[in-house]
Amino acid sequence: MPDKPSSTLRLTVDTDALAANWRALDAMSGAAKAGAAVKADCYGLGVDTCVPVLRDAGCQHFFVAHWSEVEAVAHHIPASQIAVLHGVLTSEDADYAQQIGAVPVINSVEQAERWQASGGGRCHLMVDSGINRLGLSPSELGDANVQALEVDVLMSHLACADEDSPMNARQLEVFKQTRQQVAHRSASLANSAGIALGSDYHFNLTRPGLALYGGVPRTELSGAITPVAGVEAAILQTRTICAGETVGYNARFTADRDMRIGVVSLGYADGILRSWRGQGAFTFGDKHLPMLGTVSMDMIVADLTEAPEVREGNWVTLPYNLQNAAQQSGLSQYELLTVLGTRLRSGNA
Ligand SMILES: *Cc1c(COP(=O)(O)O)cnc(C)c1O
Repeated sequence: MPDKPSSTLRLTVDTDALAANWRALDAMSGAAKAGAAVKADCYGLGVDTCVPVLRDAGCQHFFVAHWSEVEAVAHHIPASQIAVLHGVLTSEDADYAQQIGAVPVINSVEQAERWQASGGGRCHLMVDSGINRLGLSPSELGDANVQALEVDVLMSHLACADEDSPMNARQLEVFKQTRQQVAHRSASLANSAGIALGSDYHFNLTRPGLALYGGVPRTELSGAITPVAGVEAAILQTRTICAGETVGYNARFTADRDMRIGVVSLGYADGILRSWRGQGAFTFGDKHLPMLGTVSMDMIVADLTEAPEVREGNWVTLPYNLQNAAQQSGLSQYELLTVLGTRLRSGNA
């Protein structure tokens, strides 16, 4: 096969910022160590790009959601440092865990039984302290199969750590009580936002995800966290339209004057969804190029009024500061990262 021509779009990942974010979150975790949530392909930024950086920064606890995610992470770190949050839903999962050496997070009495039946051994245990997502209810912790587990990290997950909610303190109390009910080596409660709730929430291990990748779920973190992701794309074509002409799918923008526009090579499959409509703007150097009309499949049209020098083949940037982008697009900071498409990632410089 001939060499492929270079891509017209790319995701940039600032690996220095990623490392600095992990170190900042580790420092903010006080006596606790910071781990890293690397599920969903490092929230869309790429396991192969991010995991070696986190490892070299000093991270030793990695969390994925699915068993299908273990292999890619295990290319970079020992499988024993990988925890699988969804636990063992089948005996196939349990056997795979035993063979590959990744650590299941046990979430139910059934999972505890299944893990013991597969041979047991080191595992983590998730207790539900109020989010009502995954995890054992405190009342289930007395179960014989649960008591028999070799629990390394006892963990729970906060529902509202990114808000000033009384639920945070309630979950903290429930979690502390569950620590009396089952033997464990260490304890972990805080996600990114939970780290900012203070030392009561830190225990032995924290589990940041979003903030590693530049998300700012609480204002306390804004000074410490640097953006990591950048979205860049080429202008495929420029044209001049007359007053009264429309742009894009469903003709949602009508020019009120003659104007020069550029067609940017970014669209739905890259994770730039229709919800950006009428909100976003590209940058070209320090020039501002508003999006016009609706994202139309693989393309977005930009207003080139401020940058008459822009030509076909020039590159523009979609600022991906997650706090601002969340306001512009109506998507959460989590969604903004995890929707980034594989086509964008494979364009990586
Ligand atoms: C995803 C996840 C995290 C990371 O949460 P962020 O809010 O992204 O920091 C931590 N713990 C568990 C159990 C998770 O599922």
